[in-house]
Amino acid sequence: GGAPARPYLSGLNPEQRDAVESLEGPLLVLAGAGTGKTRVLTTRIAHILSTGRAYPSQILAVTFTNKAAREMKERIHSMVGDAVEGMPWLGTFHSIGVRILRRHCELVGLKSGFTILDTDDQIRLLKQLLAAENIDEKRWPARLLAATIDGWKNRGLSPDLVQPGEGATFANGRGQMLYAAYQARLKALNAVDFGDLLLEGIRLFREAPDVLADYHRRFKYLLVDEYQDTNVAQYLWLRLLAQGSRNVCCVGDDDQSIYGWRGAEVDNILRFESDFPGAKVIRLERNYRSTGHILAAASHLIAHNAGRLGKTLFSEGVEGEKVRVTGAWDSGEEARAVGEEIETLQRAGHALSQIAILVRASFQMREFEDRFVTLGMPYRVIGGPRFYERAEIRDALAYLRCVQSASDDLAFERIVNVPKRGIGDATLKQIHDLARAAALPLQEAARTLTESEELKPKVRATLRGLVQSFDRWRVQARQVPHTELAEVVLDESGYTEMWQKDRSAEATGRLENLKELVRSMEPFENLQGFLEHISLVMDADKGAGEDAVQVMTLHSAKGLEFDTVYLPGWEEGLFPHQRALDEQGKAGLEEERRLAYVGLTRARLSARVYFASNRRIHGLWNSTLPSRFLDELPDPHVQVEESKGGFGWGGSSYGARTSGESRFDRTTPFASTYDTPGWQRAQAARTGSGNSSSGGFSERGRPFGRGAGGAPVIEG
Ligand code: ATP
Ligand code: MG
Repeated sequence: GGAPARPYLSGLNPEQRDAVESLEGPLLVLAGAGTGKTRVLTTRIAHILSTGRAYPSQILAVTFTNKAAREMKERIHSMVGDAVEGMPWLGTFHSIGVRILRRHCELVGLKSGFTILDTDDQIRLLKQLLAAENIDEKRWPARLLAATIDGWKNRGLSPDLVQPGEGATFANGRGQMLYAAYQARLKALNAVDFGDLLLEGIRLFREAPDVLADYHRRFKYLLVDEYQDTNVAQYLWLRLLAQGSRNVCCVGDDDQSIYGWRGAEVDNILRFESDFPGAKVIRLERNYRSTGHILAAASHLIAHNAGRLGKTLFSEGVEGEKVRVTGAWDSGEEARAVGEEIETLQRAGHALSQIAILVRASFQMREFEDRFVTLGMPYRVIGGPRFYERAEIRDALAYLRCVQSASDDLAFERIVNVPKRGIGDATLKQIHDLARAAALPLQEAARTLTESEELKPKVRATLRGLVQSFDRWRVQARQVPHTELAEVVLDESGYTEMWQKDRSAEATGRLENLKELVRSMEPFENLQGFLEHISLVMDADKGAGEDAVQVMTLHSAKGLEFDTVYLPGWEEGLFPHQRALDEQGKAGLEEERRLAYVGLTRARLSARVYFASNRRIHGLWNSTLPSRFLDELPDPHVQVEESKGGFGWGGSSYGARTSGESRFDRTTPFASTYDTPGWQRAQAARTGSGNSSSGGFSERGRPFGRGAGGAPVIEG
C-alpha cells in the first residue's frame, strides 16, 4: 500500500500492534508484567503523532512518576524525533492536576499564585483547628486527622459528600466538621494541599461545564499507565476528561496493584468497562522481559491470590537461571554476601546500573548502604533519600551531635523546635542575636537567655528544660553505651513519641528507621566514632551520573527492569509486613504478595532472594521465620543455597522436600525474642565476642541458635 514505513511498529506482536493502532474509542490493555504495556503506550503516542492525528499538546498522558514521564518522552523522541517536542500534558496525575488548576484557579475560589501546602504546614494548620475546637490533641492527633482527610480526598469526597459515619471515629464524629473547617482555612490562606489538586479539579469540571468542554475539545487522546493503582479521585478526574473524545487508553495489571494502602482501587479496572460501554479489551500474554524460570516462579507465586482477574503469561526466551534463594545468618551477613556478589558481577563486566536491590522497608537500606560505602561501590537510592539523609535520621543525628558537641549550631537549630515545643522563630532570633553579640554557641546563648527576663515564662521554661536535658545527656554519655544513650535521647526529647503519635502511612517506616539507626551504632566504639563514620558516609560519592547500583523499595520499582535483582529480607513480619497483616488481614497479605510479584518480575536475567535467620531490631534479636512466599515459589524454578558465610538457615534440604512440606523450617514462633543488655552489646562489639556480632564487623563469635521453639541451633 501507499502507507509510509513505520519502523516503530515492526517488532510488535499482533496484539500489541492492535493496541497501538486501535486509536478510536476506549481501550483497556490488561496484561501481566513485562508484556509491553508501557511500550504499547509509548508507541501509541508515537503513532498518533507521526500519523498527524493530533498535536503533542492534544495528548494527555499520565504516568506514575515524573521519572517515568521523562523516560516516556525520551522513548517517543527516539521513535518520531522532534515531533514530540512540547508534550505539555505528559506527567503524573498531580503535575497535570496542578497545571489545570493554575489556569482556572479563580473559578474554584483560589487566587493566582496559590500555594501548595506540604505535610508540615498541613499538620500545623490542623493543630490550630483542633485547638480552636478544644479537642485534645493527645487523644486525637492532628496527624490522624490528616490521614482521615487524605482518605476522604483519595475517595473523591469533599466535605459535603462525606456520609455521616464515614471516619466517624475521629473526635467522636467531628471529623467531617473539622474537614470542612480545614478546607475553609485553606481557601482563606489561598492554599491547597496535595489531595486538592485533583479534588478541586473535579469540582472545577463539574461546576464549569464550559471549561470542561474546552478540555474535551483539546484532548483528542488520553492515555494512562499503571492504571491498577489509580484511586477513586484520579479515576473520577480522568473519567470527566475522557468523556469528550472517549479515545482513552488505560494499561494496567491487577496483579501489580500495590497502593491499596494509599487508596488505590483495583476495581477501577472493572469499572472501566461499565463506564465506557463498548470498550475494547486487549490482553497481552507474551512476556518479553524475564527468562523462563523467573517468569514461572513469579506466576506460581501470584496464583496464590484469590481475587484475581486471571491471565496467562508465557515467554519464548531461554529458561535462564533459576530464582535463587539464599539464607543468611543475619542482615549483616546478607549485606556482605550481596556486596561480594555484586563485586564479582562488576569484575565480570556487568553494569552496576543493571543491578537493583529492592527492599520491603526503607530501614533495610541502611545495612546495604554502609556496606557499599565500605566497599567503595557507587550506589544510588531511587525514589527517596539515602538512609542517613532521611528527615527522621537527620533529626536524630542532630540530637546526638548536640550531645557530642555543645557548639554544633546547625544541629541545635535543626532540633530546637522538633518536636514542636513552642520555641518559634522569634525566640530563635533572640538566641541568634545573643550568640552573635557574645560570640557564644547557640546552646550557650540559649542557656544565658533562660537566665534573663527576656523570654516569656513559658518559653523560658521550655528552653531551660531543653538545655538541661542536653547537660544531663552529656553526663550520661560518659556512663552508658552510646546506643543506649541514643535511645534515651530519642525518648526523653519526645522525638520518638512524635512519630508514634503520627498516624500517617510513613510513620511506621520512620520509626523503623530510627531503630535501625540505633542498631547501626553498635559496631562503633563510641558516639564520636559513629558520628565520624556518618560524616564519611554523607560525604561519599552519591553515585550521581555514574554507573551505580540501584537501591529502592519494592514500591518504587514498579514499571522498572534490571538484569539482576536482589530481593533481601524475605522473612515473616518483614515481608509480608506485619502491619499489612494486622491492619488488613487477607487483603493485606494479598497486596504483599502482589508486591513480591512486582519484585520478581523486575528481573530480566537473574532474581536472587535472601532471607536472614536472625534480625536484630532495636537491640532485640528476632529469630525470624522464612517468608511464606518462599514456600510459594515452585520447586522446579528455584535453587536454594546457603550464603558463603556458612551460617545459613540450616533447614531441611531442598532435595529432601516432599510435596506439601515446607522447604524451610517455619516451626519457630516468630517472636522468640530475647534481649541483650546494651552495655553487654557494646562491650561485645568492641571485643568481637559475646552476644553481638551482627554489626557487620566481626565475622566470628555467633553463639546464637534460633532461640526457643526447637529450631536448629546454628554453630558459630
Ligand atoms: P510492567 O508491568 O512491569 O510495567 P510492561 O507491561 O509495561 O511491564 P514494558 O516495560 O513495556 O512492559 O516491556 C518490558 C520489556 O519488554 C521492555 O524491555 C520492552 O522493551 C520489551 N518489549 C516489549 N514488547 C516487545 C516486543 N514486541 N519485542 C521486543 N521487546 C519487547
Ligand atoms: Mg509498564
